[in-house]
Amino acid sequence: MTELLHNPKIKPEHLARKAIVYLRQSSDKQVRQNKESQLLQYAMAERVRALGWQEVEIINNDLGSSAGLAAAQREGFERVLSSVALGEVGIVGSREVSRLSRTDKDWCRLLEVCQIFGTLIADEQQVYDLNNLDDQLVLGIKGTLSVVELKVIRQRMLAGQEAKARRGELFKRLPIGYARDPVGKIMFHPDRRVCEAIQLVFAKFRELWSVRQTFQWFRDHDLELPVNPIQGTRLIWKLPSQSLIRDILRNPFYAGAYVWGRRPVTTLLVGGRLEKRQSAMRPAEECRVFIRDHHVGYIDWATYEENQRMIRRNSVNWEGDESMAAIRAGQGLLVGLLRCGHCGRKLHVRYWGGRGTHARYLCKGDYDDGGQYCIGLRRQLGRPVRRTRTIKGDRAIGGGSQSAGSRRTECRRHRSTCRPVPQARAIGV
Ligand SMILES: [Zn+2]
Repeated sequence: MTELLHNPKIKPEHLARKAIVYLRQSSDKQVRQNKESQLLQYAMAERVRALGWQEVEIINNDLGSSAGLAAAQREGFERVLSSVALGEVGIVGSREVSRLSRTDKDWCRLLEVCQIFGTLIADEQQVYDLNNLDDQLVLGIKGTLSVVELKVIRQRMLAGQEAKARRGELFKRLPIGYARDPVGKIMFHPDRRVCEAIQLVFAKFRELWSVRQTFQWFRDHDLELPVNPIQGTRLIWKLPSQSLIRDILRNPFYAGAYVWGRRPVTTLLVGGRLEKRQSAMRPAEECRVFIRDHHVGYIDWATYEENQRMIRRNSVNWEGDESMAAIRAGQGLLVGLLRCGHCGRKLHVRYWGGRGTHARYLCKGDYDDGGQYCIGLRRQLGRPVRRTRTIKGDRAIGGGSQSAGSRRTECRRHRSTCRPVPQARAIGV
């Protein structure tokens, strides 16, 4: 204590201002388990008092937030910076100064602000004055080293992870329906009920050809599926959600393939800040690691591919044949089922009338490209076709009110003009 009190770097103008002790532990787990480190960090406050400061503020808001995060996301660090910039702080203390920041930008900012406002920096051994060239150099090296250290650790970790994934051995958690045998080989779950439940999902999808309908079937029959609980390792049984059914059907693991990196994380600049975002799910073959016939599958690869094709076709946003897409809301009975016999485009539907119950089907032709509409026909809900005729030209393809018999004849006659698309289904996604 005596030795420290005589530290020549500490001047009365420093002591006249307050001291800040900054505490940080990077994860909640560390905060819970590594109490010793926390106590040592709190002991820093005692050291600062021993150096002669009366007023010591402890900033511990960042316990549990990583130093790799930008300062804006670490409230405590931001407070340190603003207090120093207000000229209120004589010394900033932290056990291992590298704890203050592990990003170059924040570290340089802190050093710059401390230099301008004559604020000292202290760790458990030294007091640094930023206006002293040697101290500046030492702090600069310490900061750079800690940034490099963090990057090396991260790189080493990622390389290890990737090597393990390339061998097909990296799993966060095995998908439901799989387990490991005593030597670590992947096999079907020993509980036959679990296996049968997974098989049933695939069998029902092959029968109904729709994720939504498969989900609905399980709901209607009150059938539960095994799921991995968020916490714990025991499977629990519950009524499936649609996303669970979709996840099972889309997971290539059930077709015996090992896939890693299906949703790679990309870093984007959003509003001046770097944000990590998971990108959309990639097809299995385009992932960073794809090993076919990695383990025993519930379905074979050809079946998996066929299932994926059908799921894609059912999607409203699919950019392929739009007539295969799901039928959306609206009162028209033939929405999504009609195709123009002249140009092959899918007929659009427009609703009109006071309550919007009158559907009018039309082919936009090349209207969007500056051309003309192709054909249009309309039908009132619950009433026979009154009039159908081409918009382009004067060739009428329908008459006034007709008997059922003559409508059937007309239907046959015009089957080649407006035909329902054979593969289209009337219900469900
Ligand atoms: Zn047309």
